[in-house]
Amino acid sequence: MTPDQPSRPFTAASFNQYLAEGKLMASRCEGCGAVHLPPRAICPACHSANLQWQEESDSATLAAFTVIYVAPSAQIALGYGREKPYLSGIVQTPGGQKISARIEGFDPLQPESIHVGAPLQRVSDSPALTYRAVTEA
Ligand SMILES: [Zn+2]
Repeated sequence: MTPDQPSRPFTAASFNQYLAEGKLMASRCEGCGAVHLPPRAICPACHSANLQWQEESDSATLAAFTVIYVAPSAQIALGYGREKPYLSGIVQTPGGQKISARIEGFDPLQPESIHVGAPLQRVSDSPALTYRAVTEA
């Protein structure tokens, strides 16, 4: 939870640039304390533009998921599709924020084995927001 230089604008480009640097960053409203993930340029709760960057935890829980069989071109290029589906989902951070992400570490062909609430860990070297299942030791 380190505040960063406020010089980066609160845009999707900044968010993706932070992801490329291995950081998951949210915007925190200095007016009311609300935290937004993905970041917002204006607080939707109190309409303040007085925001700070806040680094989020790499741990999260699975809030919802779906199995993608009909993949977009970029995923088809990676080998995904009807024969090899993948998971997309909504994860919830320890602070309660929810964001969509790729989900790895589960078997998409056995969705009945995947449970909402499962612990996840962010894959920090992925250009897209991706979480992997935490396997219990
Ligand atoms: Zn606010």
